[in-house]
Amino acid sequence: MSIAGNIDSVKKELGNKGVKLIVVSKTQSIPIMEEVLSTGHRIFGENQVQELVEKYEALPKDIEWHLIGHLQTNKVKYIAPFISLIHSVDSLKLLEEINKQALKSNRIIPCLLQVHIADEETKFGFAHEELIQFLELGAWKNLKNIQIHGLMGIATNTPNRKIIQEEFYEFQTFFKGIQLSYFRQDSFFKELSIGMSSDYLIAIEYGSTMVRIGSAIFGKRKYKEEEL
Ligand SMILES: *Cc1c(COP(=O)(O)O)cnc(C)c1O
Repeated sequence: MSIAGNIDSVKKELGNKGVKLIVVSKTQSIPIMEEVLSTGHRIFGENQVQELVEKYEALPKDIEWHLIGHLQTNKVKYIAPFISLIHSVDSLKLLEEINKQALKSNRIIPCLLQVHIADEETKFGFAHEELIQFLELGAWKNLKNIQIHGLMGIATNTPNRKIIQEEFYEFQTFFKGIQLSYFRQDSFFKELSIGMSSDYLIAIEYGSTMVRIGSAIFGKRKYKEEEL
């Protein structure tokens, strides 16, 4: 099927649940992204700062850019002027740097806290206890140029639906607890970024508000991306 056809069928599956589709365009060329733009879609996710900035410069300015990959503190400054949402915040140090750069750009940058929910060792993110410690510590409350809009997680890469269902169920429960305990006053804390090509239909059953989808739209990526 065509890219436009794939986007259309994913959007139909997301239906009217209000789940936001983030088209993950990492490793895709500008002409391919222009094909997506011609469908009217304007929300893209990238996992590397340099690639994201190059595409930002080459493409129309009404695009909503999401950073979904690991972010090093020394690279925050390149995306702070325009990024719509950073999904991958995994330390206070990083959040402080985002706050600092957001202030320089006179912006408030929406962020998600990435939580480690998979069985796998290699994935970034806060462990559950670490996240609670971080929130209890409270230093984040002094950062006026960031807003924490929710949580992001990556499930185990497995064909076993049951494992994925359990991980998403636990994460949804954790999310609700965090929302009640720490963000009761913050109506913007409502995003649960879960679901990729292989598991987004499961994710939307467990409260996903944004799915990050690449290969189900573009086909398998030709080049192995760098280890996340
Ligand atoms: C690459 C990537 C995706 C999209 O993966 P697909 O399996 O191609 O849909 C989603 N989230 C993150 C964090 C990624 O790095």
